[in-house]
Amino acid sequence: MISVSDALDTLLDLVSPMAAETVPLRAAAGRVLAEPVSAKRDQPPFAASAMDGYALKSAEVEKDAMFKVIGESAAGHGFTGRVGAGQAVRIFTGAPIPEGADFVVIQEDISRSGNLITIADHPGTSTNIRPKGGDFQIGTTMDAPRVLGSADIALLAAMNIAQVPVRKQPTVALISTGDELVLPGDTPGPDQIIASNTFGLDALLTAAGARVRILPIARDTESDLRTAFELAQDADLIVTIGGASVGDHDLVAGVTETLGMSRAFYKVAMRPGKPLMAGTLGQSAMVGLPGNPVSAMVCGHIFILPMLRAMLGLATDTPALLTAPLAHPVSENGPRQHYMRGRFDGQSVHVFDDQDSARLTLLAEANVLVVRPPKDGARATGERVNYLPI
Ligand code: AMP
Ligand code: MG
Repeated sequence: MISVSDALDTLLDLVSPMAAETVPLRAAAGRVLAEPVSAKRDQPPFAASAMDGYALKSAEVEKDAMFKVIGESAAGHGFTGRVGAGQAVRIFTGAPIPEGADFVVIQEDISRSGNLITIADHPGTSTNIRPKGGDFQIGTTMDAPRVLGSADIALLAAMNIAQVPVRKQPTVALISTGDELVLPGDTPGPDQIIASNTFGLDALLTAAGARVRILPIARDTESDLRTAFELAQDADLIVTIGGASVGDHDLVAGVTETLGMSRAFYKVAMRPGKPLMAGTLGQSAMVGLPGNPVSAMVCGHIFILPMLRAMLGLATDTPALLTAPLAHPVSENGPRQHYMRGRFDGQSVHVFDDQDSARLTLLAEANVLVVRPPKDGARATGERVNYLPI
């Protein structure tokens, strides 16, 4: 049995960053920027008014000063003339500041009569002008890698980047194994259950940027399993679920061996999730997850998500664990690293009494995995423990 961190290092060695591709801006949301991109223009491209008001010369600004309005500058329609002494141009937010002006008096501070305006109130010191290039300039870069969020997409749009270089999405083939499994919506026989892990993992991995394919459930026969692996062979990562222990019907290890998998390791010193296997099968990385629903999902968080990050070219350092005080004592931990389901209520962490790795209700109720190192001693109320938000 190897440690969780050795297992993770080995898994990360099985994958490498995907190639880059160029996609239209709208398709780039949620994708990983593959290389830095540079703004193709200044924003704003001209000194622009930040307010509705009157553009004039700052040297002439004082209460009760009077000006003649000689024209208008609106967004998209600038004023082409020049503002001279004693003159002002009606201006609106986003409009270019006319030549000769270097101050905008907001309309609330003005009283107007025909073409004459008077500064009725002290206008303050802000010029109400956004300088040319004040947000970004030609050549300002957006750094990579980063997961492109909505603000990034808005910024790329403003930079006039219509085509965005992003990492290709890794394809992940999910293979559920077991005679007892049917799909949600099907009618299970008396000895059957619904395949759940596949769908939980699909949700987890899709949200993390993978392109997930759910393959037909493989029955517990070598030929079914072999067919599933054939269907999966063009995937970047093949994930099997179940059939990974040493029972009579656990065929994944045997079949992958006959298919020529070089196995990187088999068992990991963790709870839940001990029977985890990994290696390379043809062009694909392969991970065999345990079948118990909670084990499969926990292994998804601890192992598959970092693998995906590596494939997407993102940092893979183990996510910094958070710490919080315990709401109650917990007993000492066994020899394996334990990921205990629990709930953080904003102040302290409650570790669930029942840590059965088959109980999805408890996983759904959990918002943290409390990480107990091997042989961690008993801990009292108020002692701080590490946790991973899920
Ligand atoms: P196994 O590793 O195949 O012995 O499976 C361990 C346990 O997980 C058994 O109770 C299986 O019925 C269950 N199991 C395996 N695969 C799935 C799945 N895709 N969804 C839900 N439960 C599963
Ligand atoms: Mg099974």
